[in-house]
Parts: sequence; C-alpha cells; structure tokens
Amino acid sequence: MEITDVNQYDLRYDLDESWSPAWKPGYEQTVHEVTVFELVTDAGISGVCSTSGFAARMDYRELAELFLVGEDPRRIDRLRERLAPLNLWGPRPWHFEVALWDIVGKDAGKPVYELLGGDGDPVPAYASTGERRDAERRLAYVEDRVDEGFEAVKLRMHADDPAADLDVARRVREAFPDLTLMVDANMGWSVPLAERRQWSFREALAVARELEELGGVAWLEEPLDRHDYRGLARLRGKTDVPIAGGEFNNGLYQFREFVRQESLDVLQPDAVLATGIENATHVAGMATTHGLEFAPHTWNDGLGFAANLQVLAATPARWCEYPLEPPGWVPEARDFLLEDPIRADDGSVKPPDGPGLGVELDWELVREMDQSSGGPDDR
Ligand SMILES: [Mg+2]
Repeated sequence: MEITDVNQYDLRYDLDESWSPAWKPGYEQTVHEVTVFELVTDAGISGVCSTSGFAARMDYRELAELFLVGEDPRRIDRLRERLAPLNLWGPRPWHFEVALWDIVGKDAGKPVYELLGGDGDPVPAYASTGERRDAERRLAYVEDRVDEGFEAVKLRMHADDPAADLDVARRVREAFPDLTLMVDANMGWSVPLAERRQWSFREALAVARELEELGGVAWLEEPLDRHDYRGLARLRGKTDVPIAGGEFNNGLYQFREFVRQESLDVLQPDAVLATGIENATHVAGMATTHGLEFAPHTWNDGLGFAANLQVLAATPARWCEYPLEPPGWVPEARDFLLEDPIRADDGSVKPPDGPGLGVELDWELVREMDQSSGGPDDR
C-alpha cells in the first residue's frame, strides 16, 4: 500500500452560541476552526486526522506530501522517524501519525484500540468545563451533569487572583460533597490573541493548599509552565493535591523529563497535540512503571476526541475528558465534522468501535465548508 496524495480542508463552523474559553482571557469564541488532513492511498482507503484552530489557516499540505507521498502507511515506526524533522520546521507531526493508524485500522477492519490490545468498554468520564463562571451558574451546570450521571467535573481557574475561582470550587464542594473535582489552571502555555497569565510558584502553592483543604480533588492541572519540570516537582513535593500536565508537551522525551524530575502525578498526553497514538500508549507504560496516573487530554474536535478515545481504550486510563460547556460548547459544535457526535451516556463514553478511529466524517459538510486551497477540487 502506498500514500498517493494528501488533502487539506480548512473548516469554520459557526457556533449557535458564543462562549469564552478560560485560557483566552477577553476572547469570545464564535466559530470552531478545524483543519482536516486526508491521506489517500492506492488501496482505496483514506486516513483522516485534524488539528485545531490554533494551527488553522496554514497550508501545509505540500509539506505533508513531501514527507508522506510514496510511503507505505502501515510502516508507522518508519514514518514517525521520517516525520520527525517536520517538528523542527513546521507543524507537529503527531496528527499525521493518527491518520496512519486510521488507515491501518480501516485496512484491518478493526478499531485502532483492538490492534493495540485494548477493549471497547465504556470509560468513566469527567465533564470538562471551559469557562470561568460565577458560583450560581456553575452550580446549575454541576447539577445538570450529576443528573446525567457524571461523577466528576473539571473546573477552570485562570485569573491573576484565584480567590474568586477558589470560592466557586468551595461552593461546588459544599453542594456536592461526593463529587470528584479536577481543577485546571491552564498556565502551561499561551495562545495567540490573548495575554498570557502565569502564577508564580508561591501563588500555585497557595492554590494547591486551598484545594487540599477542599478535599476530593483528583488533580491540579498545569499550575506552572509546561517546561518548568523543576518547579512542578517542587510544587508536587509541597502539596498532597496531585499535579497533572502534559497536554501541549511535545514528544516522548518531554514526558521522560516529567518522570525523571518527578514533576507530575498525572501524565496527560494528547494523541493529536503531544505524542501521536502509539507514543501515548508508551506514556501510559511510563505512568504504570513509575506509579503515576495516566489521563489523556482531549479538547479540539470529534476526530481528535476519537483518536484520544482509541488511546483510552488501549490503556489503563481511569478518566476520559469530556469537553462540555453548554450552550456554546456542546457535542454538535465540538464534533460538527462527524456524522454522529460522540456522546457521554450515564457519565461514561464508549470508544467508537468502527474501523480505524471508529468514526465517520460528514464528507458532504467537509467538502462544502472547505476554505483551503489544498482540497482535491483545486488541483
Ligand atoms: Mg488542561
């Protein structure tokens, strides 16, 4: 089998309701931008992958073609090596690895997790919020999720002064004493068009100690920069609240550094953003052998979610992240490019069990919405 072509589709989906991601202070999100890549083979099978709006509007179809056309997509180890220089000059190569697995799974007629030795059992999910909200609105949200069967919710903190966010967490804890809480500070990285906020080490420690008092906190996520391996390790040594991170780190060596420097309790690679599918399972192995927890990150879109679900199904991960912040960020908007959005049922998510990534793209919508110059119609 040989890759014969790479197509790029730039998609913009207008949200029914805008929303304000906590990690982009002052920014109101009204569209969901996704770039989809399609690796076409001479066997009549195509593999797909996506990357988020962070990287959208860049045409890197030609770069991808340079590295991939003429190669056998089943030789994933070789192609991972071949794609490594892409990481120096261009986009991260991980999403292309996801598309290779999609091809291999479709060729075998099996979901990727089955090829990796996993099972299709539903994975307990936590409802992952996206906004900083006042206590009344957040309590209403949590009540809805608990009614739906969720047993865990992740709250956002991203203010310079975390007092208001801590107060919301306290109110949620009082109202829902048995609910597992995760807290995400999103201090690990920054995005274009938003001012970067960062806690000092002492601020991060003060928050961690407040969360200790709160109790039932599964982890504090990204309280410091994603490369501050030493700072995270110091913080981890001074608090009982587990420290989590890794969503935007880049490749296996950075996860080795988290382990070597004892920076984290919870390793959170994202197949699309941080490691690819196979290396995410290797991070799971690192977690197991070092007594750490493994909880893959996901946020972007339905294809990215499907890729991370394949990892979840193939590893002993305990929690599936389920991004949900109605009315703006709902399954129909998050997964708009899929025929069927991925939905939680009674607080769990069943990994999609179709061949490859397990999900079907809504090709009619993708072709209609495409704004790139790299689609097949523009040759
Ligand atoms: Mg996060």
